[in-house]
Amino acid sequence: MSDEEITLPWIDEPMDVEEAVEALGQASVDDGDHLEALEERIERLERRVDALEDGSSIECPDCGRTEAVYKSGVGAAKLANDGGLSDANADALNQESHVCLDCRESFTPAFD
Ligand SMILES: [Zn+2]
Repeated sequence: MSDEEITLPWIDEPMDVEEAVEALGQASVDDGDHLEALEERIERLERRVDALEDGSSIECPDCGRTEAVYKSGVGAAKLANDGGLSDANADALNQESHVCLDCRESFTPAFD
């Protein structure tokens, strides 16, 4: 039963399923530049998302340090945990993308 043979349109001889899957995988790898371009694009987007998610590479414009910089959602959660989230800084966090928990300054880093 497991020796069932399937036929791929561009291959004349029937092959077993394992070989066919391998050929299909090979085919999609060979399937062209647009795949590669797509992967590159995804990679770029992922790097950008990483930069936004991971505050560690972003400097606080106030103190110039990176250690306490978080994405504002994360920062808000941390501040709330510490009981330090006031209406005023909640508002600021809604406006800006990042916050430095050292200075409690929120800001939006410039990309590019
Ligand atoms: Zn700071």
